[in-house]
Amino acid sequence: MKLIFINIYPDETIARYLLSSYVLSAYIKEYYPKKDFLEIKILNFSNNVNPQRIIESIQKEEPDFISYSCYVWNINTIIGIAKEIENSLSCVQIFGGPDITLEKIENSMNFFKGRAYFVIGEGERKLLHLLEFLSFGNSDLEFPRGIAYWKDNGISFTSDTDLIRNLDEIPSVYLNNHIEERLYAHQQAFLETQRGCRFRCKYCVYHKHNSGMAYYSQQRIFDELDFLLLTKKITALRIFDSIFTSDLPRAKNIIRHLIELKKKQNSLPWIYWEFTFNSIDGEFLSLVSELKTKAQIKNSNTITALDRPQHYSDMLEGYTSINCIGIQSFSNAAQKAVSRPKINKEKFREFMGQVFQYNVVLKIDIILGLPFESERSYFEGLEYLIGYLKDTDHILNIHRLQMLPGSDLEKSVTDFDIEYSRQAPYYVLSTGTFSCSEMKHAARLTAILFRMINSPLRSKFFSWKEKRTESLQELLDVIFSKLSQIPEIHTAQLFQSDWVDDNYWNNKIFSEIPSQLLISVLDQMTEK
Ligand code: SF4
Repeated sequence: MKLIFINIYPDETIARYLLSSYVLSAYIKEYYPKKDFLEIKILNFSNNVNPQRIIESIQKEEPDFISYSCYVWNINTIIGIAKEIENSLSCVQIFGGPDITLEKIENSMNFFKGRAYFVIGEGERKLLHLLEFLSFGNSDLEFPRGIAYWKDNGISFTSDTDLIRNLDEIPSVYLNNHIEERLYAHQQAFLETQRGCRFRCKYCVYHKHNSGMAYYSQQRIFDELDFLLLTKKITALRIFDSIFTSDLPRAKNIIRHLIELKKKQNSLPWIYWEFTFNSIDGEFLSLVSELKTKAQIKNSNTITALDRPQHYSDMLEGYTSINCIGIQSFSNAAQKAVSRPKINKEKFREFMGQVFQYNVVLKIDIILGLPFESERSYFEGLEYLIGYLKDTDHILNIHRLQMLPGSDLEKSVTDFDIEYSRQAPYYVLSTGTFSCSEMKHAARLTAILFRMINSPLRSKFFSWKEKRTESLQELLDVIFSKLSQIPEIHTAQLFQSDWVDDNYWNNKIFSEIPSQLLISVLDQMTEK
């Protein structure tokens, strides 16, 4: 029997693989009863690779089972590939990952009949049970719960609550050498220290199948960190937890261990984790501060503005840990609409004061297009937030709202009058309070703000803004209008495309709108 995992990773990631297939593979290798009869292979492809090449690679392998890890960035490609495979091979195709929900199967995967199975939620045990069921053809085995398939033009599915509570049951992909040596050459690794989320944000699907919390033992995390940092000398580590600080004392212990590792080898990789601003205390920030390479850092005032993205490289130089906090909106109505607690501005002010005191860096997430947000409330929220960015290197990270299949928000689209694209990445186009033309306009102004704030142009922007009396939105309108009159850049996507999105303002705008040109526009306007 041969099982292959298909990993299609986003081209822009440094690591050239997805962790999920390696974790699943490690679990199957450990627990599948007849290991000697099961060959497992993982094939990694960038999402820029021609799908025909992926199809040919799969056909060459002649697998009995194919397992696809489905995410918003690869689901369309995977569906196209799987259709071809269904017509050319007689193998079983298995789909899992966050983009696989009953709604997705019903709406977009209704042509896979017979040899297709869909793993809903946490995958390890379900995939193992499915393989056992299919490969042993034993009538004593019940069809595993938590897996959907098409039967008589309907979906057959029995939900499963049998989640892994002791995560150490999953073999470590690092300590057991499941990650191929060549992948360490890219020097980026991923780690989950826990699973689950206590929040229930309506636009998210993660919590739906992972509501309770489960943790790996601290010793397992320490051993994996030792291996990745001391032995493999990785240069970037992304912690996958929804809220790294869900157990604050435990999170602090992990940081203390990192501090010990820093003493041993004098430097640490980039470490990225997410937490909520009200789940931490001063001691946590003080520990995070010890991970830096020097006591005081302020990069945006000292580096030269270039025509490339500098926000995840030059501006974060020396900080070691990138602390991501999801704010999403300062509108109470918008937060309530998506089941998030409103932002307590007094607590936020205290938090930002401590962050400044300990000189740690944040990546602050905001969403454009939440229900009950208006163009005005969106820019008012940004105006309030950027007040805290002056003289810092924090990254303002803005996403357009995506309507993930199976999310609670998708079920409420009529309540909020939401129009959205039915194709991945499922961007929201308008809501009852944010028209389509306002959303397009707000996206353009967001791109300009992003270009200035997330670059060494930040201080220039603030010194110009302080001389003006207009609102942030009015100021961005002025800059947009000035830029749109400059012939050298009139072909820029910013002016020519109907829509701009996260990808544009994170990357292309930095070359399309050169730094020197922006500086001269700001200078001219300051002189007037
Ligand atoms: S968006 Fe983050 S905090 Fe909210 S439910 Fe999803 S994982 Fe949890």
